[in-house]
Amino acid sequence: MSSDPVAAAPQRSFVLLKPDAVRRGLVGAILSRFESRGLKIVAMDLRYVDGDLADQHYAEHVERDFYPPLRTFVTSGPSVAVLLEGDQVIEVVRTMNGATDARKAAPGTIRGDWALSNRENLVHGSDSAESAAREIALWFPDFA
Ligand code: UDP
Repeated sequence: MSSDPVAAAPQRSFVLLKPDAVRRGLVGAILSRFESRGLKIVAMDLRYVDGDLADQHYAEHVERDFYPPLRTFVTSGPSVAVLLEGDQVIEVVRTMNGATDARKAAPGTIRGDWALSNRENLVHGSDSAESAAREIALWFPDFA
């Protein structure tokens, strides 16, 4: 038995490649980064997100001022829903995605290399184990 506190611990995260990623033809490039890092695609699906699904996914944000335009954006075209698995995948994906405000995201991150908006920032990644469980149940119930 290892006592290493950061020993490999398989975990799953919900990732959404938002409509700007599909529109701009960046789906392959973004998925390639995750795969090259060693993360495994467990499930994947092109989805037309409707307002109800957007409201459920962003339940913690629905009362915020930025939500109406975010809702319009996320329902503006197809997205790609991805279930990723790997060691500490939740934190790894968040680091790879970069800061929420892409204008401040570090070079080398997905947002920092390919986006320049606080809204149209290409990717979503679960922010905690609790969020991942909730989002996987919402988007991929067969895997919950
Ligand atoms: N967002 C926005 N305006 C803001 C903050 C966030 O439009 O001022 C959008 C942006 O697309 C972001 C999403 O709302 O990715 C969810 O925000 P959150 O703070 O959860 O950021 P994330 O976890 O996606 O980095």
